[in-house]
Formats: sequence, structure tokens, C-alpha cells
Amino acid sequence: MAPVETEKSITLAPPQFVLVPLMGQGHTTPMADLARLLAERGARVSLVTTPVNAARLKGLADRARRATLPLEIVELPFPPADDGLPRGSSDNSDNVLRLFLSLYRLAGPLEAYVRSLPCRPSCIITDSCNPWTVDVARSVGVPRLTFTGPSCFYSLCDFNVAKHGLLHSGGDHAYVVPGVPVPVELSKDTWAAVFLTCMPAWGKFVEEVREGIRTADGAVVNTFLGLEEQFVACYGEALGKPVWALGPFYLNSRKEEAPAVGQSAVTAWLDKMDQSTVVYVSFGSLARMPPKQLYEVGHGLEDSGRPFLWVVKESETASPEAQEWLQALEARTAGQGLVVRGWAPQLAILSHRAVGGFVTHCGWNSLLESVAHGVPVVTWPQFGDQFLNERLAVDVLGIGVPVTPLDDGKAVDHVARGHIARAVSELMGGGAAAEERRRKCNVYGERAHGAMAKGGSSHENLTLLLHSFMRTGSKEQ
Ligand code: UDP
Repeated sequence: MAPVETEKSITLAPPQFVLVPLMGQGHTTPMADLARLLAERGARVSLVTTPVNAARLKGLADRARRATLPLEIVELPFPPADDGLPRGSSDNSDNVLRLFLSLYRLAGPLEAYVRSLPCRPSCIITDSCNPWTVDVARSVGVPRLTFTGPSCFYSLCDFNVAKHGLLHSGGDHAYVVPGVPVPVELSKDTWAAVFLTCMPAWGKFVEEVREGIRTADGAVVNTFLGLEEQFVACYGEALGKPVWALGPFYLNSRKEEAPAVGQSAVTAWLDKMDQSTVVYVSFGSLARMPPKQLYEVGHGLEDSGRPFLWVVKESETASPEAQEWLQALEARTAGQGLVVRGWAPQLAILSHRAVGGFVTHCGWNSLLESVAHGVPVVTWPQFGDQFLNERLAVDVLGIGVPVTPLDDGKAVDHVARGHIARAVSELMGGGAAAEERRRKCNVYGERAHGAMAKGGSSHENLTLLLHSFMRTGSKEQ
């Protein structure tokens, strides 16, 4: 971005952003994408993270270096821990919370880093799950935008429920989210799962997250107006701050990713399949299925008779029994299915012509990636915001089939093979409803690409964001 001469001949320099992602694939990846988008438009960007996470961002660092982008990955030293939490919990949510709380120790190093910069940065953009950055931004006197990872629909619901004091409302009746331009009704159990009140240990942390969002100077969201315009507008009104819809980030920042894996075994298998016949099955980076549930998924896919590409985590098949079971399934379904162990090249898969559906946990990145490639979904949320992302996909956008009937009043913790086979058949089959889902999804996919193209809504919003943080000369600290 070249310096700009204004009418009064004041030279405006490109803005400088400090980005603070949350650890974890689903949070770090979109922030890394955002870093690249900003740098490609001329802003100076520091992406601040721990040494372990920085190693995972090597690809981005290499690409930025090759393209001589003004993007730097900054490693913050991690001071020793004393978070007072019990070690070695078998509950995954305890371990996730411990990780989140351990990051509070980065407040000192982050403040020291910002103060060490020759110029005060224009803005700190920080994942909303890093509430420890609120005091840092205040202390160094730098505006702070919060990056909210989930859909704007979820962020709006969460904001309104907290604002109206409804987080812990009692009773067994259906609960209604206020202040949302579409009806959102949830059962008691889903309500508790969405707003995390089912996990009392998280109470203080989620309150700090909400406070961090309320007190920020605005929000950056990985969505686009052609998908969530009404929710972006309502969220902006609710916050009383600008909400910048700049996504889907990855469409511009990871353009080279799909061709790069063009020769992989996975895409070679897909190449042999007919157009839009394969259902892709993956539950993101965090969710772990117990063996009993895993077996139901496998049998359900087999029973559906549809070609499938299923990502199974190594940790899900750690036992010899599970491994043996999976090998037997692979033998029985040779020709019909492919099982990928560990990590799959999801963008390359979703952009492949053979893929016609996605069974997803509704993590926002996965859902957005599916929508942007015009791939309709079977929805099977596991945690938090994913239940509302499911509602968005099924009820609002009309691109999803729920794996079990939507919120029948009971928490679904065991989905049977019959549910999976039925939902997959419904998604991948013919008929007016299935065709209509495909049509709508294609429309959203085209809009997603349009939003990121020059002149599109997300591209224009990014221009506005950059202009609003242009610097007048080098302000000393
Ligand atoms: N992902 C991938 N390969 C996998 C699993 C996940 O590339 O085998 C990527 C996926 O494309 C998405 C991210 O990891 O960008 C997962 O984020 P999401 O918000 O969907 O779910 P989370 O992992 O946070 O639950």
C-alpha cells in the first residue's frame, strides 16, 4: 500500500497491525489467513504467537518471505505456568480451558513486544478467546479489534442472550434467543451446550471473553455479506461498533493450497470418481469420537451405499480393536470408500469436482469452506457455537440436513448408523429438496468468490478497514 497524499498534503502511511491468534487449528488458521490478506494489501503485520505455534506457521512465513510481504511471525517467550488447575484431567474440556488460561501468561511478553516497536501499531486484532489482551491494548494505548471466530449468527445470539441476562434461565420449556431477525428456539440442553453454561469451570473465562468483545473498538468476522448480511448488521447495532465482514479469508490467502496437493493419494482417488458423488466426512481438528460412535459412523457410511471419503484421527483408533475394525471396514468398502488417517487436505477435497456433500461438525471454518465451494452439508454439531452454525445452515441458509431431527429436546450424544445412512442418502440423493439445497449452496459459493474479488463486499470492507487505520506520520510512544 503506497503512502497516500491527502487534500491537506498530510502523508498517510500504511497501517501496522499486531495480530494475536488463539492456539489451535480452527483459530490460528483464519488469523494467519487474515494476516496475509492485510499484508497483501500493503499493511505491516506482526503475527504474534508461541514458539510451538510459530513452527506450524512456517508455510505462511515462507510464502510471505518469497512474496516479500511486510508480514512477520513473532515468537513470544512463554513464562512458566502456575494456573492452579488440576493436571492430567481426563475431561477434554478441562484441558482446553487450561490451555486458554495458560495464555494469560503471554500478557507481559506481548506488552514488552509492542513497546519495543519503533512506532506504536495502528491496531491490535486479537482472537476473542484471548481476553488477556484487553489490558495489554489499554496499557499501550492501541485500539483493539476482536476477531470472533464463529459465524456472525452465533456471535449475535451469544451477545443478546448475555445482554438480556438469559444465560442461566431455568425451566424445561424451549428457550428463545432475543433480538435476532429469525426465530431461534433451543431446548434447555442445547442452550446450556451453546452458551457453555453446562461447564461451570468455564464461567469466569467466558464472561471475560464477552467483556472483551463488548469493550473492543470493533469486530472482524470471517464471513461475507452475501451469506450473513442481516446478522452482520444486527451484530454491529448490538455492539454499537463497526463489524468488518472480510471473508472467506482463505479464498484469497490460500489460493495455492488446492493445486499444491493436486497429486496426493486422496485427490488421485477422487479423480476416479464421478462428478458430485462422493460424501466427505470430517469433524475438524478437536472433536474425538469414542470407538462406539466411530463404529456407527463407519457402518452408516457403508449402509448408505454412497462413495465416501472419511477422515479418522489416529487417536480415535488407538486401540488394537478399533484398528482391526477399521481395517475390516476398509476391506469391505474397497471401491466405495477411502479412509484418511490423521489430517486431510480439506480445501483440495472440498474444491474437487467429485465431492457433492460434507458430513461436518459445523466448525465455522469447515462450514464456510463447504459453502464457498458450493458443497451442501449433513450437520452434526459437537460443541458450543457449532449448534447455532447448524441452525444457520439448516434453517436460515437451507443448505443442510441435520443428522438427527433438530433439537428434539434431548442432547444427542449417540447417533446411530441408521441416522447417518438416512442423512447421507437425503443429502446425496435426487429429489426437489436435495436439488434446492445444491442450488442454494452454489449461489452462496458464487457470492463467496464475488465477495473476495476486487470490488466485492469483503474486498471493499478490507479497503475501508485499512483506510480507517492509516497512520499520519510516525507517532512516538
Ligand atoms: N482441517 C483440515 N484437515 C483435516 C481437519 C481439519 O484441513 O483433516 C482444517 C479445516 O479445513 C478447517 C480447520 O481445519 O479450516 C478446522 O476448523 P473448524 O472451525 O472447522 O473446526 P475445529 O477444528 O475448530 O473444531
